[in-house]
Amino acid sequence: MNHKFKSVSRLTIIFILAVVLSGSVLAYFSINNISNLKELTEKKIIEEQRELSAAFSAALQNKLDTITAGLGNEDDKPEITLDALARRANEFDFIIHPFILNRNGNFAFPNFEGIHDRVQRTGLSERFISSFREGEAAEFAEKDFRKAEKQYLYCLNNATGSSDSAKALNALGRVAVKLNNDDDVLTRYSAIALKYFHVCDENRYPYVYYALPQLLKISTTYHHEKIVPLIEFSLEKMESGLIPLNYSTEELLVLIRRWIKESALPGSDKMIHINGLIENLDQKLQFVNIYGKELTELLGKNNWDTYYKTANDFLTVSSTSGDGNDFFLIHRYTDYLAGFSVNRNKLLDTLLKADILKDFNFEYIIEFPIGYSANSSGDNLVFSSQLNPCFPDQMIWIRLKDKDLINDIVRRRAWIYGIASLMLLVAMVLGVALILRDIAREKHLARLRSDFISNVTHELKTPLTSIRMYAESLMLGRVKSATTRNDYLAVVVNESERLKRMINNILEFSKMEKSKQEYHPVEIRLSDVLLKAISDLKYWLDQKGFELAAEIDRDITVEVDPEKLHQVYTNLLSNAIKYSGDSREIKIRLYRNANETVTEIEDAGIGIARENQERIFEEFYRVERQDSGEITGTGLGLTVAREIVEAHNGKIVVESEIGKGSKFTVRIPE
Ligand code: ADP
Repeated sequence: MNHKFKSVSRLTIIFILAVVLSGSVLAYFSINNISNLKELTEKKIIEEQRELSAAFSAALQNKLDTITAGLGNEDDKPEITLDALARRANEFDFIIHPFILNRNGNFAFPNFEGIHDRVQRTGLSERFISSFREGEAAEFAEKDFRKAEKQYLYCLNNATGSSDSAKALNALGRVAVKLNNDDDVLTRYSAIALKYFHVCDENRYPYVYYALPQLLKISTTYHHEKIVPLIEFSLEKMESGLIPLNYSTEELLVLIRRWIKESALPGSDKMIHINGLIENLDQKLQFVNIYGKELTELLGKNNWDTYYKTANDFLTVSSTSGDGNDFFLIHRYTDYLAGFSVNRNKLLDTLLKADILKDFNFEYIIEFPIGYSANSSGDNLVFSSQLNPCFPDQMIWIRLKDKDLINDIVRRRAWIYGIASLMLLVAMVLGVALILRDIAREKHLARLRSDFISNVTHELKTPLTSIRMYAESLMLGRVKSATTRNDYLAVVVNESERLKRMINNILEFSKMEKSKQEYHPVEIRLSDVLLKAISDLKYWLDQKGFELAAEIDRDITVEVDPEKLHQVYTNLLSNAIKYSGDSREIKIRLYRNANETVTEIEDAGIGIARENQERIFEEFYRVERQDSGEITGTGLGLTVAREIVEAHNGKIVVESEIGKGSKFTVRIPE
């Protein structure tokens, strides 16, 4: 036995050591893991930032290649190039405007002519010139407008080409204005607008620019229906480039706008069309205003090779005009230069809106500053690099959206590890405690068993000795008197009954252990079972001089196994006898209470301490007493009694006080 326990405790120590060791290793690694986690996460972030930057660079390159794809065929005619450029510009909203620049620095698109001071040969005839001069003398020096009109009419009638006609019509219009002859103003200037819109004067200034303001001035309600189509027609020609734009176009557009507003023209389709045309023209003018000078200057430069080229041979040239955030995509065709101005911020915004960020684990804030201004925040997880060689000073700056992300991750992980370690620790302690408890219980049981064996031996020995002694006396004929012989025989019978009871308890317990008890319930009067138990023990009660106070209801019938219940009663009654000490009173009651039958067996004996009252029902348990002398027993009587009562769905309880006695109550439901 001892050896067995030693090996158990050795095993336990090995187990505890294993648990503690593995727990410590786990704890060590989890702490280690947490400190590595920060470093690893930072590395991962930097890696992702690098990838993200590369992804943006590639996306930008890709965008530039898409914009310029299919363009750049050296020998394409300007019209074809313009068409392709315009379509591309419509497709991408970050393209501000396409342009075509002639080798001499003039815009072929938008068609813009500055007003040159070079006097152009107009090819007018001598006769025309002299008559026209006379007209001018009459108009400006003599202020004789009628005479001037006559001269100009003569010029018109003798005009040999569109230049002559337009010049004469323009002068006639002017005189008509001075004569306040609206009908003539309308006739002369509408002729210019409709027929000679493309004709310019000696300064290459289109006559139509003189005509339109005057037409607007005489536009009364009566004339609207005639003037609106004229304005529309002229704007269309300007839009399509047949009437070149110049520095006074803007002023003309202002006049037309004011005219539309003041004359409160109805919002017809025509007016919507006119407004659209004005808007388009405005854009073209703005483009020329902002970028014209820079582009013309660029043409004269020889450092084209220093610019970065996209896949389709377009150069990316940063613009200094406007807000400085735009750039040109320019290609050199054989006879001209063409390309777009592009809004860089809008282009970068488009990149940001693309799904590039989706494939990354962490969330980032991305900015595109110019030059190395980033990193000033002092954060170490800010990535900064050149966005793309197309834009040498355009940076990309990537930083984590959530600044506390890493700390949060580490904190969260620390919590998880902390709680897990704590749980592990608790489990370990609990495991060890359970094992120790089991060992203690095992030891206790082993001791109880060994006590049990010596108790049983003792219990068997006492009655057997009596039986043998009395039987021997009888056998040898030593007892002469018939009464004494009867007494001797009674001792033999009662002692063997006692043996039987004890053996029954042991057998019942062994069946209990193997779960093999069998019950044979029958409908029976419970008082019969109780009275039989009392009569079986009558010999001992009389022997020891007990006074029995019995209060028994004889009408109670229940369905029980009579033998088993008889065992319960004899166990309780023999205990009452055994543990009565000096008292000689035992009370027995059997009565019905609500839906149960109650049996009480009460003694006034030594009693049971409160802390032992539940344990006495445990197997082999016997209360240890120094004072009460030797009362033998197996510690199974109450265990068997409780088992039997519970098998009948009943309950057995004890009420007891040390020195005052004990009352055992058995309740069996009906
Ligand atoms: P045994 O009587 O053989 O020791 P039991 O299971 O019948 O075993 O009883 C268990 C213990 O309960 C006894 O050892 C005794 O100490 C205590 N006990 C039982 N009945 C009484 C009683 N009527 N008065 C005092 N103690 C009792």
